[in-house]
Amino acid sequence: MDFNDSPDEAAFRAEVRNWLSANGQRRTRPDEAFGEGLDEAAKLALAKAWQAKKAAAGYAAITWPREAGGMGGTAMQQVIYQQEEAAYLVPQMIFEVSIGMGLPTVMRWAAPELKARFLRPGLAGEEIWCQLFSEPGAGSDTGAVRTRAMRDGDEWVINGQKVWTSSAHFGDFGILLARTDRDKPKQDGLTMFIVDLKAPGVEIRPIHQMSGDSEFNEVFFTDVRIPDQYRLGPEGGGWKVMLSTLMQERLSVGGNLPTDLHRQLIELARICVWDERPAIEDARVRARIADAYLDQQGVSLIISRGLTALSKGKTPGPEMSITKLVAAKAMQEISSFAMELAGPEGLLASEVLGGNWRYLQRLWLGSPGARIAGGTDEVLRNVIAERVLGLPGEIRTDRNVPFRELDRT
Ligand SMILES: Cc1cc2nc3c(=O)[nH]c(=O)nc-3n(C[C@H](O)[C@H](O)[C@H](O)COP(=O)(O)OP(=O)(O)OC[C@H]3O[C@@H](n4cnc5c(N)ncnc54)[C@H](O)[C@@H]3O)c2cc1C
Repeated sequence: MDFNDSPDEAAFRAEVRNWLSANGQRRTRPDEAFGEGLDEAAKLALAKAWQAKKAAAGYAAITWPREAGGMGGTAMQQVIYQQEEAAYLVPQMIFEVSIGMGLPTVMRWAAPELKARFLRPGLAGEEIWCQLFSEPGAGSDTGAVRTRAMRDGDEWVINGQKVWTSSAHFGDFGILLARTDRDKPKQDGLTMFIVDLKAPGVEIRPIHQMSGDSEFNEVFFTDVRIPDQYRLGPEGGGWKVMLSTLMQERLSVGGNLPTDLHRQLIELARICVWDERPAIEDARVRARIADAYLDQQGVSLIISRGLTALSKGKTPGPEMSITKLVAAKAMQEISSFAMELAGPEGLLASEVLGGNWRYLQRLWLGSPGARIAGGTDEVLRNVIAERVLGLPGEIRTDRNVPFRELDRT
């Protein structure tokens, strides 16, 4: 592994640092969040203003070709930008689906006039994209999608329900996986579309989470009409289009686990009292902090291995699934240990506990979701077993069976 920047990478890093220090706002505390104290509308407006600035400088899509609004740069430059931006107060998640999944799918599969229509506004944050794949009966098994798309002349009529759709409550467009043929085996009867989330018949219901936030939604479609021009890829080719979207998601090798959580645990263990002594004096507490440090180092080394591959112009392989698997579990264990440190008071809101707890408490509340989103632990283990270790694949009893026979609803 090579941990150092090449001369070109160092020059790019210097450029990024200059641009960020001239245009961004540095974080002053680890728990400081973008748009703190603002309501959702004001935060969204601030996020859009930042994204517009970033797109104008070419940093919104570093690896994209220039004609599509990108910088024509390398994957390593993208990683360098992310590493530097991490020290700044920038919006998290709002544009992640647009730039990471929605727009790359449009870029790969849409007709030229649609690319001209959608790519630039999306990159500049003027329009926000969602991913409408999961349904109540189709999560890990995306091939089981039931939402119907029926052809009607030059249009398609959509009926059905999606769930867990991140950002749909302020989204503008989505990539929608729908069933166009129930007589074909499940993966062959799917088609991908662009859907306008403001179209008549689209109803978006935010899901209230235990953190108090509502980041994702149920989305209902009742006789929603989509022009055939908004179809992405061939009719019945939705599975292949979806795989191209998920490949984009898996190629993301950014830092998944913060690297300074052990420091925060040390600070908290100094102020918490266990058996009338500072908790840090307890050997079991110190051992847990050491475990947290080792987890962080492990994740960071796997990421470095992916970065070394990127830096040499190679594509990191499915072994990057290991990063997400280990990082999400470690995030949950570390933040849950922080809550244990606080004892019964750990259940209080962070405003009552004090600012030191805010970040770890948010991680704790968000970590179960992290173990599900982008592939559950079990599904990632299957990927590692089959594609990294070369073990036999899962036995599939639904192959070559018409979807109509699998779904009797
Ligand atoms: C924070 C968050 C954001 C999300 N955002 C989006 C979004 O924007 N768009 C979208 O379309 N979806 C989104 N999702 C949904 C996510 O993709 C699904 O939750 C995920 O794929 C799991 O599907 P499921 O919830 O239906 O669980 P299921 O697939 O029903 O799984 C239930 C359990 O069975 C296990 N399991 C399933 N299949 C196997 C198998 N083959 N082998 C072993 N075990 C298995 C799972 O690991 C899990 O423990 C989001 C989810 C979260 C948590």
